[in-house]
Amino acid sequence: MYDIVSMGEILMDMTPVQGREGFLYEPNPGGAPANVAVACARLEVRSAFIGTVGQDFFGDLLIHTLEANTVDSSCIYRTSQAPTTLAFVHLDKKGERSFSFYRKPGADLFLPWGRKEKQTIENTRIFHFGSLSLTNQPARTVTKKALRYAKKKKKLISFDPNLRPSLWKDLKEAKRQIFSCLKWVDILKLSEEELLFLSAKETFEEALAWAKSLVRPIVLITRGENGVICLFQETIISTGSYHVEVVDTTGAGDAFVGGLLSQLSQEERPFHISRERLLQILKWASAVAAITVSRRGAIPALPSKEEVEKFLARYQEHMPS
Ligand code: ATP
Repeated sequence: MYDIVSMGEILMDMTPVQGREGFLYEPNPGGAPANVAVACARLEVRSAFIGTVGQDFFGDLLIHTLEANTVDSSCIYRTSQAPTTLAFVHLDKKGERSFSFYRKPGADLFLPWGRKEKQTIENTRIFHFGSLSLTNQPARTVTKKALRYAKKKKKLISFDPNLRPSLWKDLKEAKRQIFSCLKWVDILKLSEEELLFLSAKETFEEALAWAKSLVRPIVLITRGENGVICLFQETIISTGSYHVEVVDTTGAGDAFVGGLLSQLSQEERPFHISRERLLQILKWASAVAAITVSRRGAIPALPSKEEVEKFLARYQEHMPS
């Protein structure tokens, strides 16, 4: 039995070495759904990943990384059709990042779908996915099959689009594909930019009103250092972020999702918890994300459960409001 099964891209983030930006890069295991799988495992919930790497050294390293973090890797495949996907990360002076993908195609697009994957989904409480597996075939069809299957088996479905405009030929198509999945989704996590893009509204307030009209059990809008807003049971719950020294924001959203799902998966009726409990969970997830942005890389930066507990104890008097 798993608490969380995450499906989608697993890839190598090529992170610039400080002081040698543009000339020297270090490979860091990443890919948003893979980050979420590891975040959950580090937080001591049972986690499995469904995805594909190439038959190359980076593929070996990625599988090893997930296994070393106790993520079940029995649904990670190795394709000979493409090399392991690479994403070169560019960091600006504030630690904010953008990506250049080497994926024409990359192995992550060759998602597996068979008896083993169905069994894995059957054996979980939460199924999580993103939008990189919706950009191209064959991943798009497989993702939708998995979604339909997860819904049929009454799993909680979590979606973090993690929109990467450069990977779409056409942003109208991106919107169409993301919208086509929303009807299946119970937990939707959007960044502020994604909310504005999907809603096509001018202001954040208008976009928030649009988000309410989606009528999903939980909608989260993360706002970087400004914290998170959550739509739940027809009300809004929000919390600020923890003040930390930012080193690299790669994976902040994935760390947040990992923190959130790892806690929700332990609730018997996650959509019927009290507002107070949800606020506590949002603060826990924000702490997971804050620790992650204070370190370099995505997966290497994700904290253990013990680290989060120590962090929260230390920040007790400085809780964000
Ligand atoms: P990414 O695409 O990098 O994974 P995202 O855009 O999905 O990130 P953000 O809104 O940037 O997600 O961040 C998610 C959460 O991480 C925030 O709600 C906050 O709790 C935490 N966080 C992000 N940036 C900071 C920061 N500078 N300081 C403290 N916490 C932060």
